[in-house]
Amino acid sequence: MQKNLGQETVIAHCGRQPEKHHGAVSTPVYRASTILFPTLAELDAKDSAKLRYGRRGTPTTHSLEDAICALEEADAALIAPSGVMALSVVLMSFADQAAHFLVSDNSYGPTRKFCSQLLTRFGIETTYYDPAIGAGIESLIRPETRLIWMESPGSQTFEIQDVTAITEVARRKGVVTAIDNTWSGGYFCKPITQGVDISLQAGTKYVSGHSDIMLGTIACTSTIYERLRETYLRFGVCISPDDAFLALRGIRTLGVRMRQHEANALEVADWLENQEQVIRIMHPARANDPYHDLWKRHFTGSSGLFGFVIRETDRKALARMFDGFHLFGMGSSWGGFESLMVPSNPSVYRTATQWAPGGQTVRIHVGLEDPKDLINEIASGFGRLKN
Ligand SMILES: *Cc1c(COP(=O)(O)O)cnc(C)c1O
Repeated sequence: MQKNLGQETVIAHCGRQPEKHHGAVSTPVYRASTILFPTLAELDAKDSAKLRYGRRGTPTTHSLEDAICALEEADAALIAPSGVMALSVVLMSFADQAAHFLVSDNSYGPTRKFCSQLLTRFGIETTYYDPAIGAGIESLIRPETRLIWMESPGSQTFEIQDVTAITEVARRKGVVTAIDNTWSGGYFCKPITQGVDISLQAGTKYVSGHSDIMLGTIACTSTIYERLRETYLRFGVCISPDDAFLALRGIRTLGVRMRQHEANALEVADWLENQEQVIRIMHPARANDPYHDLWKRHFTGSSGLFGFVIRETDRKALARMFDGFHLFGMGSSWGGFESLMVPSNPSVYRTATQWAPGGQTVRIHVGLEDPKDLINEIASGFGRLKN
């Protein structure tokens, strides 16, 4: 891609090469396992061929890699069949014998489980740290520390990390950094430009945008790429061309979707602030949020996912509120066009810090519906809490 294009232009053009596909605007779905080489000489040279076997990618998956690379302003990208596969590839790539990892205490549950359950078996130790640690991370770095893992904001509790302070320390100490960038969709935050080595996403969420595929994306610097690719190839990670096609289709509307999620979520959050049932809102783009200044330094906008805390209530009343929703779905994931709401319990998995907000934590994903309708529905839900 040309340099210095606006983000919306990048999103419209990244990963497309119509001249290579009979003029088709979008790279078609290439289904292939076997790739045939017409001569023995070309077969002998297959190690350097871009296309050599389906597991190693097709034009459709290569288009998606190019698009993610451009979106994240990275040097290279890899695509995985789920966000968890993407994070496993990254963690596994630095799991040297007796290695030590630093992982933010607000990290996504399966990230923690991969470290605490699987990697512990191989003698790799993980220290969980306070997401607010900033440059203080230096005191936790040991000679055997191989990786610093960040998630900003935490996808349950929405703390923003001082990414630039952490990457400054990590570079000085020669420790690799990785961040879970799912919340921003890669649209509102470019961690590679902030000194992070690896930015990964559950592409299942905003990149796809339609709640109908599983996908993981890994964007990285050129110095890290070969290391990640080695793990990726050894595990045989690959994705279906149909999913790659749908992800590319999702990316074309990422900008308009993200800006609308942002506006709708802020409208809902503003309304929530004045409700007597709500005792706290976790939304870093709001001026009174404790992480607002850090958010302003690292992000250019905010997505549709945030949290709030309602007064302590029994499970029955909570069920009356949630069971009566029509527009808000209950279920895992987020980042689709539709709204979701679930009660959550972030206090159970933390080890380095406490989550005790004094009420019931709720996570909301504000979709692309008319926010007035969403607000009306939450208002009647709050009404059901009482009787
Ligand atoms: C959903 C999610 C993942 C995992 O993605 P899957 O595609 O569900 O495997 C990772 N990190 C965050 C922050 C997520 O929300």
